[in-house]
Amino acid sequence: MNMAFLTEAVPARGVLLPVLPGIHRIVADNPSRMTYHGTNTYLIEDPDGVTLLDPGPDSAAHVADILRLTPAPIVRILLSHHHHDHLGATAALQAATGAPTFGWSPSPNAAFVPDVPVADGDTAAGMLAVHTPGHAADHLCFARPDGTVFSADHVMAWSSSIVSPPGGDMAAYCASLQRMLDRPDSLYLPGHGPALPDPHPYVRSLLHHRITREEAIAAAIAQRPAGTAALVEALYSKIDPVLKLAAERNVLAHLLKLQREGRAVPDGEVWRAA
Ligand SMILES: [Zn+2]
Repeated sequence: MNMAFLTEAVPARGVLLPVLPGIHRIVADNPSRMTYHGTNTYLIEDPDGVTLLDPGPDSAAHVADILRLTPAPIVRILLSHHHHDHLGATAALQAATGAPTFGWSPSPNAAFVPDVPVADGDTAAGMLAVHTPGHAADHLCFARPDGTVFSADHVMAWSSSIVSPPGGDMAAYCASLQRMLDRPDSLYLPGHGPALPDPHPYVRSLLHHRITREEAIAAAIAQRPAGTAALVEALYSKIDPVLKLAAERNVLAHLLKLQREGRAVPDGEVWRAA
């Protein structure tokens, strides 16, 4: 099944890109096969100043852009999750602004201790925190009352998310996708790439895509025990070599989920049906 991914042109660097009234993004210059054109750092104009969501990679140029372009003083720094392309610039930005950091606690990155721990259902900067583990154990989406959600790396329009154990968990990821379907939101603003309007059909297809792949993996190992590399070879059509390792991580995540469900067991270098 082909996913209906959205693309966008390479965005301008070092400028404030309008997203919605009072919401801007700066796209960090860290493009890659995993980060698309780069990490989206969002600047949200709140009554008391700017809420910054996801500082981005550890880049002096990106930090300088943020400090130069922010329309008002940065009064708080929110983290969607601890991966370095989101967390990297946090220390420099906090040093420059003195703003408190908000994030899941404890962070899987022990070096990051949020000033304000955020749990599922908490309110941060007037937004509802939705714990959405799967891509990362500490992943949070932030939902605004107007139906806009900062979906970070849980749901991105340009690509499906990598779910790489042990931080990534396929069962949690699927449950977190279902969680998004149970919410009435109308627009997602992801951590990489363009905005996603009318997100539910897309989230449903993400979920369907994973279930279909998982059944294919279960069927393959029922026929013949196999390792992750062989399963990627068999199940992924003409995959870019660069993405092969990422695909293997996703396959491993499916196998671990199947193992927990009593449907697969590791057997030396290979996996077989339970
Ligand atoms: Zn990311």
